[in-house]
Amino acid sequence: MRIETLAVRAGLRLDAGSRAVVPPINLSTTFERAADGSYPGGYVYSRAANPNREQLEQCLSQLEGGSGAAAFSSGMAAIMSVFQALSPGDHVIVPDDVYRGTAHLLEDTFIPWGLEVDFVDLTVPGNLERSLRPKTRLVWVETPSNPLLRITDIRQVAEAAHRAGALCVCDSTLATPVLLRPLELGADLTVHATTKYLGGHGDVLGGAVVARVDDDFFRSIKRIQYQGGAVASPFDCWLVLRGIRTLPYRMRAHSENAAQVASFLNRHPRVERVYYPGLPEHPGHAVAKRQMTLFGGMVSFQVRGEGKEAMAVAARAKIFVRATSLGGPVSLIEHRASYEGPGTLAPENLLRLSVGLEHPDDLIADLDQALSY
Ligand SMILES: *Cc1c(COP(=O)(O)O)cnc(C)c1O
Repeated sequence: MRIETLAVRAGLRLDAGSRAVVPPINLSTTFERAADGSYPGGYVYSRAANPNREQLEQCLSQLEGGSGAAAFSSGMAAIMSVFQALSPGDHVIVPDDVYRGTAHLLEDTFIPWGLEVDFVDLTVPGNLERSLRPKTRLVWVETPSNPLLRITDIRQVAEAAHRAGALCVCDSTLATPVLLRPLELGADLTVHATTKYLGGHGDVLGGAVVARVDDDFFRSIKRIQYQGGAVASPFDCWLVLRGIRTLPYRMRAHSENAAQVASFLNRHPRVERVYYPGLPEHPGHAVAKRQMTLFGGMVSFQVRGEGKEAMAVAARAKIFVRATSLGGPVSLIEHRASYEGPGTLAPENLLRLSVGLEHPDDLIADLDQALSY
């Protein structure tokens, strides 16, 4: 089945009692045992499994071409479960521009816990090979990255990681399974903040891990999900699944709008540099073209001048809302360096756009007036 059909149908289970087409939200935390002690409904307790979470996990797994998925209460809870499945003393390689929440989680929790971490620019040839060690268990990829929109060749990284006996994990939040299928390129796990495009409406926090094979490592992640209990609630699962039903069409519109915004900014005299993998001059364009179907809805750009000029442009925006996060219908503009704080790789004069679903001409007109001073 094609991605549009999968997005609508995967995990779709008509309600056995009412024949409702839209799934009911099962709030019950507990499920009845039969007189013989068995569980005829197949459920015991909601932390272990719940119909809404199962539907979402089945859908995510099918969209990614995986063999299992684990849904969490946030993207960070999903990411944390992957590192928790490792052991103290293990070595991991992470991009130097990894999502700041992931970097902080490693620095403040997992390095003190005993994980050895190297932050490396994986887009520079040879950097990965130079960083691999006998104790390397995992190589983390994030493509496109946030907010620099760097592109990493997943096939190449996965092959190098596997040769060294390490896993390759891809945070694919910005791309979604519509634009990129990391498991088909050799990644072992895909991680998502479903908070972003999958939920798609800015009204639910969630995360997921999807596994290519249902192996011991993924079973550890499922154990951590159950024992640690950072599961997605039934309502949150329902909202994310509802969002996924329209994902392919939204990703197309986000990508078309972003391409137009990027090309407008690229011609603007007050703009120093545009970061969008769809632009032919983007250093990752060829790889992005090969491994992605479209280039996504995120655009970053540097305003000529310093931080205060960038802040002033954001201050004049009328349609773009000044806020963090991404992936919803409302276009957002963010001064990323001040949000990320010390250690950020985002230049002071960089603004990040989550290009939403408004008409592109209105978005361009808004940026045009914001850049006119
Ligand atoms: C937002 C985001 C996360 C974290 O997700 P939360 O739901 O906020 O915990 C992780 N990775 C990337 C790339 C993100 O954009």
